[in-house]
Amino acid sequence: MITESYPLMSGGEEVRNERELLRRVEDGTLMNGADSVRFIVIHCSATRCDRDYTVEQLMRDHKARGFRTIGYHFYIRRDGTVTRHRGLLEVGAHCRPYNRCSIGICYEGGLNEQGRPADTRTAEQKMQLMELLLKLRKLFPQAKIVGHRELPGVKKECPCFDCGEYGGIDN
Ligand SMILES: [Zn+2]
Repeated sequence: MITESYPLMSGGEEVRNERELLRRVEDGTLMNGADSVRFIVIHCSATRCDRDYTVEQLMRDHKARGFRTIGYHFYIRRDGTVTRHRGLLEVGAHCRPYNRCSIGICYEGGLNEQGRPADTRTAEQKMQLMELLLKLRKLFPQAKIVGHRELPGVKKECPCFDCGEYGGIDN
């Protein structure tokens, strides 16, 4: 398994100075600070577990929806490869209207061979997801780990498994 390293706190782009930082907070592209992160939201890509859905495909699809880049902060492929697409305090595009107070993680899959919602996480994905959640837990102890479908008003199966198993992760 090849896992890309992902520096947790550094943003996709360098924020050069405090003034620039403040400007971006005002513009709405950055959250106010670590305290703003109230949820760590887990998603699935809603693609079939026997088909590849690469970072490039995800990027293309999200750009087609008008996003600047991939809307999730992290993407975990079936082989356990983790890629980061947004700075941690950068506002993502994955769970309106909670984007300004959450970090989004998506795993590749979520649909079985028949195209029906299912927990299709591989052992590698489970391991990498857990590792990532433990790191984020340390940085954002106040944030609640939830599945997308647990957020109020969401009418989707995403992420197609019960995230209650992460409720017990200690700080
Ligand atoms: Zn989702």
